[in-house]
Amino acid sequence: MTSVIMAVVKAVHGHEGEVTGLVQRTQFQAVQDDTAGQDDRSGQDATLLLGLEGLAVAQVELDDEGGRVVHVVTDDESAAGCPSCGVLSTSVKGHAVTRPRDVPYGQAPLHLVWHKRRWRCREAACPRGSFTESLPAVPARARVTSRLRTECGAGIAQRFSCVKAGAEHYAVSWPVAHRAFIAHVDPVLAQPLPPVTVLGIDETRRGKVKWAQDPVTGRWFVLADRWHTGIVDAAGTGGLLAHIDGRTAAKVAEWIAEQPDSWPGRDHPRHDRPVRVLPAGGH
Ligand SMILES: [Zn+2]
Repeated sequence: MTSVIMAVVKAVHGHEGEVTGLVQRTQFQAVQDDTAGQDDRSGQDATLLLGLEGLAVAQVELDDEGGRVVHVVTDDESAAGCPSCGVLSTSVKGHAVTRPRDVPYGQAPLHLVWHKRRWRCREAACPRGSFTESLPAVPARARVTSRLRTECGAGIAQRFSCVKAGAEHYAVSWPVAHRAFIAHVDPVLAQPLPPVTVLGIDETRRGKVKWAQDPVTGRWFVLADRWHTGIVDAAGTGGLLAHIDGRTAAKVAEWIAEQPDSWPGRDHPRHDRPVRVLPAGGH
């Protein structure tokens, strides 16, 4: 067992020669102590099972509600890199604990507790005095792991009915879920629309009209129309292409004019237009 402890204790020396990195590793050692009698691989096995790159499982315990509390420590030396100058620090300033949300695993709740270090940056030319550890798996100031953010955003786009449903499933706040969703769809929305031969158009009434007052003229104007126009790829597989605020012909024509040059007949007079417009009607 002694050899196990020696393997995980790794002293880090600061500029004055003091041992600065021992506390974190000691915690890891304590866990190894508890479990090493049966199997000194259990910490590694738990780390593999968790699968968060750069983090090592130190201890798993149950809380009063039957949830699993997973204590993790940093296992990636690049986490000590100063975010401003990039130089690896060896001077520990203190410790911090964060609780990033992670993807659900199993039925019982899983709570991550990351015991991380705060480092001093000793680079003379660097303006940053200190920083806490961060990893690509859990970026600085992130409340959720990167993989939860990715999964939540994709889930809302593909499986859940709305942002609120995704937020509830992943036990995150609505703003966190919404940001994840936006990050997921932004690259998709930046792509040009697919070629379309038949546009389907339908109008939808939603909510109430919103008015706003011009601060200069004092005149009221419609800020958000209660009518939206949905535009779909009626003969292809492009699905819903856009939702336009309002339902006038001018609004639709304006939207079509903004579409890619690859759309045939986009700028031609109506009777020449190869793109046919098919109103759904009936509402
Ligand atoms: Zn620095």
